[in-house]
Amino acid sequence: MKYELPPLPYAYDALEPFIDKKTMELHHDKHHATYVAKLNEALEKEPACADTPIERLLESLDATPPSIRTAVRNHGGGHHNHSLFWHMLRPGKESNAPEGVLAEKIITTFGSFDSFKERFEKDALGIFGSGWAWLVKEQSGALKLVTTPNQDSPLMQGLMPVIGLDVWEHAYYLKHQNRRADYVTDFWKVANWKFAESLLK
Ligand code: MN
Repeated sequence: MKYELPPLPYAYDALEPFIDKKTMELHHDKHHATYVAKLNEALEKEPACADTPIERLLESLDATPPSIRTAVRNHGGGHHNHSLFWHMLRPGKESNAPEGVLAEKIITTFGSFDSFKERFEKDALGIFGSGWAWLVKEQSGALKLVTTPNQDSPLMQGLMPVIGLDVWEHAYYLKHQNRRADYVTDFWKVANWKFAESLLK
């Protein structure tokens, strides 16, 4: 099975003015496309792995053949992270917050939505170099915050992504330049809490 670049679930400019059209074009058409191409290239060398869903490969990375393990980690992780990430965003609105079960769970876990946001921001700004900040669900069902370096997936630690933010410079540098904090502030306007809630369930 060959992986394919999934289409963006909205127009390139749909997240303006928070995330700009040019960034979305490059991020999806170039960066994500490259992860897909390099993942396929690796799997061609190990046809036995080619029909295993990417989630399973990432969950049990130690079981993948050493010859492709790094490629699955980096490019498979990149493909899976970005496939989720596009859906974790949606056209922006000023007041944007989780509702229902997810809202309740965030408040129970972090005290309030604002204190959750504060801690997530601190994580996102604290990542040295490239990586992701995540709200994840543990096997027990509990929520927690984690960061992953490079394109590592939370699945590699047995954690289910609920919402995540790509803090590689390619995700924001054209618009926000060195101001990662402003990018995180803009992320709150376009975070897709409905999709996050569907992942929680
Ligand atoms: Mn990215």
